[in-house]
Amino acid sequence: MRLQGKVTLITGAASGIGKSTALLFASQGASVIVNDLDQVKGEETVQEIRNLGGEATFIQADVTNPESVKSMVEQALAKYGQIDVLFNNAGISGVGALHELEPEQWDRVMGINIKGVFIPSKYVLPHMMERKSGSIINMSSCIAEIGLARRASYAASKGAVLALTKSMQVDYASYGIRVNALLPGTIYTPFVEQYLKNSYDDPEAAIAALKTRQLSGDLGLPEDVAQAALFLASDESKFMMGSPLYIDGGVVFG
Ligand code: NAD
Repeated sequence: MRLQGKVTLITGAASGIGKSTALLFASQGASVIVNDLDQVKGEETVQEIRNLGGEATFIQADVTNPESVKSMVEQALAKYGQIDVLFNNAGISGVGALHELEPEQWDRVMGINIKGVFIPSKYVLPHMMERKSGSIINMSSCIAEIGLARRASYAASKGAVLALTKSMQVDYASYGIRVNALLPGTIYTPFVEQYLKNSYDDPEAAIAALKTRQLSGDLGLPEDVAQAALFLASDESKFMMGSPLYIDGGVVFG
C-alpha cells in the first residue's frame, strides 16, 4: 500500500485520468476526495471506490471559483483532518489557431486550466505549510514542449502550468512541500474523444495520425498517467522537486 494513511484531493476526478487516479490512489490505501463539477459522475466514482473497499468522498466545486474551492477544502479538512496530496487535474481542451480564437474562448481555457491550478493550491497550501509536508501534482501536457497545430490557447495554458509548477516548487520547498508536473501525450479519454469529434471530419483517421506521432505507435490510457501520479504522490518520489514527468509514448521525440 503505497499511500496508506494519506488523504488525497483530486480535481476533475469524475472522468478520464482523474477518475483512474482516484481508483488507483484508493486501491493503495489513500482516502480520496473526488472533486468535479459533474455530481452524477463524481458520485459514481465514489461508489466504485467504495465497492472495491476504498474510502472516498465526493465534493462538488468549480476549481475556478474561490468560494466553492475554499468551502471544499474546509469540508475535506473537517472530515479527514489533513490533505497530503493535491492533484490539480481538472482541465478542458481548446482548439484553434490564435487568430481564430475569440477572447472568450481564450479566457475559458486559461480560466480552467491555469486558474484551476492556482485556486485549489491557494487554499490547500496554508494547511500543507503548517504541517510542513505535502505533494502537489499539476496537470500540464507534452504540448507545453512541442508544437501542435491549432492548439494555441491549450498549449499556452499548459506551458503556464509547467512554469507555475517550478515557481511554486521554489516558494514551498522550505515547507517540505513538493510540486511536480505531469506531461501526458495523447491519452484516450472522453476529453480526447470530444476534441477529435469537434476538430475533424474523420475522427478515426485523426486517431490513426495521432498514433503515428507517438514512438509507442499507440495512444496512452488513463491508467498510464495514474501510475505516474501515484509515483509523484508517494514518498518514493521524495527527491523529485519541480520536475516535469513525461507519460507520452515518446511523442516529444516523434
Ligand atoms: P476528462 O474530460 O475526461 O476529465 C476532466 C474532468 O474535469 C471532467 O470530469 C470535468 O467535469 C472536470 N472539470 C472540468 N472543468 C472543471 C471545473 N471548472 N471544476 C471542476 N472540475 C472540472 O479529461 P482528461 O483527458 O481526463 O484530462 C484530465 C487532465 O489531463 C486535463 O487537465 C487535461 O488537459 C490533461 N491532459 C489530457 C490529455 C489527454 O490526452 N487526455 C493529455 C495531456 C493532458
